[in-house]
Amino acid sequence: MAKVRVAINGYGTIGKRVADAVVKQPDMEVVGVAKTRANFEAEHAIRKGYPLYVAGDGKASEFDAAGLKLAGTIQDLLGKADVVVDATPDKVGRDNTKLYDAANVRAIFQGGEKADVADVSFSALGNYAAAKGKRRVRVVSCNTTGISRAVAVLLPRWGVDHWDVALVRRAADPSESKKGPINGIVPTFQLPSHHGPDVQTIFPGLPISTSAVVVPTTLMHVHVNRVRLHRAPESLAELVGAFRAAPRFHVFAAWEHVDGTPQAMEFARQRGLGSGDMLENVVWENGVGLDGSDAFFFQGIHQESVTVPENIDAIRAMFDLAPDGPTSISMTDRALGLRA
Ligand code: NAD
Repeated sequence: MAKVRVAINGYGTIGKRVADAVVKQPDMEVVGVAKTRANFEAEHAIRKGYPLYVAGDGKASEFDAAGLKLAGTIQDLLGKADVVVDATPDKVGRDNTKLYDAANVRAIFQGGEKADVADVSFSALGNYAAAKGKRRVRVVSCNTTGISRAVAVLLPRWGVDHWDVALVRRAADPSESKKGPINGIVPTFQLPSHHGPDVQTIFPGLPISTSAVVVPTTLMHVHVNRVRLHRAPESLAELVGAFRAAPRFHVFAAWEHVDGTPQAMEFARQRGLGSGDMLENVVWENGVGLDGSDAFFFQGIHQESVTVPENIDAIRAMFDLAPDGPTSISMTDRALGLRA
């Protein structure tokens, strides 16, 4: 079967990782990436063999001046693609829908867009089947992806009476120098925060409430979860075992002395998958607790990469390339070097 031809529009933190993940898959290929600016990332794209196109308000002359060879414009690229992964900054994706409609190309959007940009919001563990055959899919944000994965583990096993998450959010990505805070903890004065309703786009009606603070770190988000389960797990070991058995979870044992996000990301850098990424939810074995039917756990979410495998599964669902979610997840994870 011919491979699905994937274009990536917006070649930043998410876009470049999605491109690198697509080329590893047996059933899809990168036909090109589109950027607005000539910079080191554009040069990397060319070095990796991704045809480079100019998008948005970008100027071909700027690329020419930098000696970066363009293959054409975003319109040219869309003409060669079956699907475009839009990884442009928040809200730019919505503007791009006109472009994608005109080219009659399917599109995947990211979590910086509102849910109504697409036919369906997507989490591979949460609602894979809902994206089957769809033309517009939104991969939910890093935080929503992380929470949805955890819901997919606990909800079918024990049921959920109430889920409460306090999100400790990273201030910026490591490559960003214009965001903050660099000192202080900034509460998000929207209570409950938008994350709960976003999780409900994947799990309608889930009783969940969320609140958030932003802290001066770039490594990961951390979620502090308290879940009142409908039925109590038999033991703490059974609860930890459910996370251990789930795809896209990495449980650090106590003996590993991964005390927090610095060691988790050091592990990821040394492991060398993606761009030194932690694509799984990080759960600490000694950070899981059980009190009757109340489950407690911390999870770390590497914002730059957790949604990357989800983009791959979204493509597979849209083009019906796998019979079900578990098959797609296993194909994706094997190709990315994750435990499959
Ligand atoms: P980014 O700023 O790192 O990358 C966006 C890229 O798009 C940049 O290279 C920018 O120059 C380019 N761009 C700007 N306007 C464009 C246009 N009109 N056409 C083509 N390219 C254009 O952003 P990001 O962090 O990769 O975020 C992309 C999307 O992914 C957003 O919706 C964001 O909310 C979502 N997301 C980000 C993270 C994260 O932590 N970085 C995590 C999950 C989801």
